[in-house]
Amino acid sequence: TPFARISPNKPHGTSKLDYFPAFMNLKSRECVIVGGGQVALRKARLLASANAQLVVIAPDICKELKNLKQVHTTHQREFRDADIDNATLLIVATNDTKLNEYISRLAHLNNLPVNVVDNPSLCSFITPSIVDRSPIVVAISSGGSAPVLARSLRARLESYIPPEYGQLAASMGELRAQVKSKLPNERARRIFWEKIVNGPIAKQFLLGNQSNAIEQLHQAVDSTDNAANVKTPGSVALVGAGPGNPDLLTFRALRLMQSADVILHDRLVSPEIVDLCRRDAERIYVGKQRDNHALPQPKINQLLIELAQQGNSVVRLKGGDPFIFGRGGEEIEGLAEAGIPFEVVPGITAASGCASYSGIPLTHRNYAQSCVFVTGHLKNGTVNLDWQKLVNPDQTIVVYMGLEGLPNICRELINHGLADTTPAALIEQGTTPQQQVITGDLNNLAELVSEKSVTAPTLMIIGGVVNLYEKLSWFSVANK
Ligand code: SAH
Repeated sequence: TPFARISPNKPHGTSKLDYFPAFMNLKSRECVIVGGGQVALRKARLLASANAQLVVIAPDICKELKNLKQVHTTHQREFRDADIDNATLLIVATNDTKLNEYISRLAHLNNLPVNVVDNPSLCSFITPSIVDRSPIVVAISSGGSAPVLARSLRARLESYIPPEYGQLAASMGELRAQVKSKLPNERARRIFWEKIVNGPIAKQFLLGNQSNAIEQLHQAVDSTDNAANVKTPGSVALVGAGPGNPDLLTFRALRLMQSADVILHDRLVSPEIVDLCRRDAERIYVGKQRDNHALPQPKINQLLIELAQQGNSVVRLKGGDPFIFGRGGEEIEGLAEAGIPFEVVPGITAASGCASYSGIPLTHRNYAQSCVFVTGHLKNGTVNLDWQKLVNPDQTIVVYMGLEGLPNICRELINHGLADTTPAALIEQGTTPQQQVITGDLNNLAELVSEKSVTAPTLMIIGGVVNLYEKLSWFSVANK
């Protein structure tokens, strides 16, 4: 029934609010805080962000509280009844249970809103968890029954609501009066704003293209009769998807993935990550398996341009960081030439992901003062690297794409003077639940690896830092 849809979890008509949610204007209002410690400080900061005028009363008032700009009076003494005479709001944060009870009762008698920190039964109001995208503010409360749940929900909303929401709301606010005078009809106004909010202009805001978006918003208001025809060009985001574990995505990556029209991804981007993309987005697999490109690079570059020219928000998902052995530079060169707006989102590169998740620091006071990233990709059956530059005992070498060339690489390093006892590790599918680490030295790593069945992608780390693996390895242990 339609009723069930309105309130699926409750029998209709029984909604009961233990607390009435309201937003209070405290600008320049006197708010009294009884208590001078860290708890009082936390509340004071919150009230300060609403520009309240704070009066703090306690025998001991901590320095940070005294220094808070919005604290305009402090009384370094015990609380007196008359202290609440001019108060709009009262916060009680003392360790003295009796005193808390007393002040709470006094406030109730005077109809003064009071919050006794961590004691809901003494409160006439409670403070919610907030997600602040001013002027948009989301407040969450569990009415004191499950603060941890409320906080976890808040964390999810924090990552879900981009910071740019505030700017979008503020800009809409600025134009509200103008739109109202241009479109006296209420329904026409609603349709206008809905188009803005659900259309390309809001998207531009959320992608951080603020000045562009503001300009387009002004244009939309100017030409409000045909607001439907506000057109925006497409854009491309070159997004680093990290080394495989979805938890290691950046917020920005996730946001773009969830607002994209088209996603281009390749083998290095795990299915779990592709699954996080907007459900309705078109997904194009462009391959990039070693020696088996589903789409050759020039075709990918061309496709990005065409998709953007059709007006799409395109996300090009790349493993790790797009600017580290990812040919990311090439992919956006064409975009730059074609004048298509683009951005690059850094990702956690395989070296840092694998290093952290295997417990092998890339630098260490005792072992390595520098670290180089090289590609071990084979060309005509050999690896072409400046070996002389690499053979430095105080340097960590990270080899990307080096599985096939591994025996060759170890041999060349030894031939060019690195000790054959130099520790070396191969990390397979780093940061994922399938991660495996094989450690040895330049002399025996190739053999150790050949004895196992190894699954790409793999990364080699060479240098004294590999000695720390035994002590610092945490990931496989934690997940066994
Ligand atoms: N742009 C990527 C690297 C692309 S080159 C980045 O910044 O990480 C592809 C190589 O990255 C693979 O051959 C492998 O050496 C390495 N690699 C990527 N993900 C990896 C992972 N999860 N574990 C081990 N190596 C990985």
